[in-house]
Amino acid sequence: MSVIGIDFGNESCYIAVAKAGGIETITNDYSLRGTPSCVAFSPKNRILGVAAKNQMVTNMKNTVFGFKRLLGRKYSDPHVQKELKHFPFKVEQRADGGIGIRVNYLGEDNLFSPEQITAMLFTKLKDIAATALQTQVNDCVISVPSYFTNAERNALLDAASIAGLNVLRLMNETTATALAYGIYKQDLPAPEEKPRNVVFVDFGHSSLQVAACAFNKGKLRVLATSADPFCGGRDIDMALAEYFCQDFLTRFKLDARKNQRAFLRLLQEVEKIKKQMSANSTRLPLNIECFMEERDVSGEMQRSLMEQLCTETFNRVERTLRGLLHNAKLRPEDISAVEIVGGSTRVPAVKNLIEQVFGKQASTTLNQDEAVSRGCALQCAMLSPAVRVREFNITDVQPYAVRLAWDAARGEDGDMEVFPAFHAAPFSKMLTFYRKEPFSVSAYYSDQVPYPDSFIGQWNIKDVQPTAEGESQKVKLKVRVNIHGIVTVASASLVEKKQDSSQNENVEMENSNDNAQGTQDAPMETNGGSQEQQQQQQQQQQQNGPDNQEVREDEMKGEPQQKQSWTQRVGQWFSGENNDDKKDKSKDKSKKVLVKTIELPIDARTHGYAQHELNSYMEQEGKMQAQDRQEKERADARNALEEYVYELRGKLSEGEVLHDFIAEDQRQRLVNQLDALEQWLYDEGEDQNRQVYSDKLGELRTEGEPIKQRRLEFELRPGALDDYALAI
Ligand code: ATP
Ligand code: MG
Repeated sequence: MSVIGIDFGNESCYIAVAKAGGIETITNDYSLRGTPSCVAFSPKNRILGVAAKNQMVTNMKNTVFGFKRLLGRKYSDPHVQKELKHFPFKVEQRADGGIGIRVNYLGEDNLFSPEQITAMLFTKLKDIAATALQTQVNDCVISVPSYFTNAERNALLDAASIAGLNVLRLMNETTATALAYGIYKQDLPAPEEKPRNVVFVDFGHSSLQVAACAFNKGKLRVLATSADPFCGGRDIDMALAEYFCQDFLTRFKLDARKNQRAFLRLLQEVEKIKKQMSANSTRLPLNIECFMEERDVSGEMQRSLMEQLCTETFNRVERTLRGLLHNAKLRPEDISAVEIVGGSTRVPAVKNLIEQVFGKQASTTLNQDEAVSRGCALQCAMLSPAVRVREFNITDVQPYAVRLAWDAARGEDGDMEVFPAFHAAPFSKMLTFYRKEPFSVSAYYSDQVPYPDSFIGQWNIKDVQPTAEGESQKVKLKVRVNIHGIVTVASASLVEKKQDSSQNENVEMENSNDNAQGTQDAPMETNGGSQEQQQQQQQQQQQNGPDNQEVREDEMKGEPQQKQSWTQRVGQWFSGENNDDKKDKSKDKSKKVLVKTIELPIDARTHGYAQHELNSYMEQEGKMQAQDRQEKERADARNALEEYVYELRGKLSEGEVLHDFIAEDQRQRLVNQLDALEQWLYDEGEDQNRQVYSDKLGELRTEGEPIKQRRLEFELRPGALDDYALAI
């Protein structure tokens, strides 16, 4: 079984595989390392990756790109509305407020969700990996921008499920980069020494992410992150394109803004100029033939002008870089290195800004395009029993403050911050409520999230009843930021405490139960896989866990008169509660506090598809794959016939290898037949089903193969070459 890491970029994806010998990048069907995040539709099939991008200009309305930024968002979201302005394909609002992408596929009108489109790309990546590795691929770690919210993360997980991928972790892009950096660093400070702080800047196609990480030997801790989800390399392209639009309007009276195809071509051309400007060029010409109205256009760009046009973008970059210093509470002198990745960090002005803000030159220790996928592959190997890698302990953060709200009793505060911004993750916290009846809690982001709706989820805790004496029950909720960075209420349990030590089968020690709870929880965390595998993963995760951290259990009272002070060390980092629990168990034994715990059912309303919806999308995806396969087989059969026609005719012609191995009149007849077949292939034979081509190829081979055979026998005969020499 293979373990892979996927960097799902807005512009392109990279896949890395963890092998015993190290991490390798997988090349695609075009021998390229990057696969465009592009999905297209035709009357016969779907076109995915490189092939989709190649036909973009001629199939604009049915070529979908930029969908990473649509995941988990509503159509009415102002950011979505902004994205839409640049899409040549049709996007509309679904009945539930979600996003629908309308394309013509198999000659019919189809509406797909961003999750489905992402799943299509993932099936392609899965296929690329399976072909390269000659094995089935399921387990993977997929990268996700650090600023993605619950809704976006759930949407990404749904897309992966539709594609049949088992995601062991959604990993923050900058954290993946930090892992790819740290694991090979031999000179990190010892665990007890002062950590080395390194900043990672990832400036990609659609966004900018920055993270500060503290490294010690064998571990990394993310201190803080900062991001601008709406500032990327594409904004530079857009600024240049806008400039040329104005220029062409003035000089050629051509308005490219009114012609989507022309604008798309212009964008492609200015991107080339931008890239060349990152090398040594300071002044470059732009020429586009037959731009619009059958006219050619030309222009020129200078680096200084480009920088002037992009002032707004560079200001945003600077603000985000400074934001990191603020969030991480670091001064430039506390930072030992600034590592850059992502295509847009190649822009000289961006490198200069980095140097200005951090007081040191940007370093390029890592492969700028592949670091994220490599980090993901490493993490996948760590989480999977299939490949052994060096252990490396990762403590990530979740970037937004999370609050929990509940129906408050008697003037109590019905709302609290459970996780402040940049709290360590994954992480669990236990919250205690005193209730006589079912109740609900809801979570929401309290900070400025890049999202108009801060709702995370609502959980209804069912089956809560008063005690026999009519009193409130103690209900414990485990609120968790899970391994994917998703905030959830992982469990709810009813806790009955007894001060008496009499043995009773139903009575358990409080913390041993907690431990049991952790183990039960784990399969949810690892998101599938065999039980044995999950157990192994858990063990591994426990070993990988950070140093024991103390987490106070936050007490919340529904009814003030029942206040009890009760603190406990609660496990975090998956189920890695072992060490703490052992200590607490002995403590509790001495107090002789016995606890009976009952799991309570929870009704959750969060983001993401319901299982039945997922199932139907999976089924639909399966059908589309079958259709693609069928079309590929058909095209392959047609190509095979075409190739045979050309090959045979070539070899039968005057002076070629088969010319003398067939009687002349038969040769003439066969060549005529081949000419007719060629004609047919471009005519009514263009679009036949597979069988028609393979039948024709079969017939042709019965004629062609004996001729080839005669030639072969002739060659193999002793002295054949002499004969041949004599013959010519
Ligand atoms: P994101 O991380 O935003 O989801 P991504 O991972 O697909 O997107 P990258 O592959 O890191 O993005 O970067 C792509 C961007 O980098 C594009 O905008 C591209 O134009 C830009 N880029 C690539 N090479 C250069 C270069 N030499 N000079 C300037 N920009 C470049
Ligand atoms: Mg990227």
